[in-house]
Amino acid sequence: MEKRELTCIGCPMGCQITVELENGEVKSVTGNNCGIGDKYARNEVTHPVRTITSTVVIEGGDKPRLSVKTKGNIPKDKMAECMKAIDSVRVKAPIKIGDVVIKDVCHTGIDVVATRNIYSE
Ligand code: SF4
Repeated sequence: MEKRELTCIGCPMGCQITVELENGEVKSVTGNNCGIGDKYARNEVTHPVRTITSTVVIEGGDKPRLSVKTKGNIPKDKMAECMKAIDSVRVKAPIKIGDVVIKDVCHTGIDVVATRNIYSE
């Protein structure tokens, strides 16, 4: 029986959760104080996902970089590839919050969007 120890990120309580797995199948989840922790733990050991926040270079703007984030969660094993795609992108001012900076980043089905306004200089 494989055991995984996790800290729940569902709220500031940070419950310490233990997941027991057998042949990749979740057998038990303990240590969580609510259903959010149960769901988080099951997802984390079978299909971990993350939101990426970062910045990209912007040309002709009143700031040198534009803050961006993925509009939803992406598989954890795609993070390095997505970060590379985000690092290589260049956008032109002006940009509005919510504008799509990269559509369907690395074929994840998730867009990378601007998280602030950037005006032309
Ligand atoms: S299990 Fe529930 S109470 Fe505990 S940290 Fe997660 S969300 Fe918070």
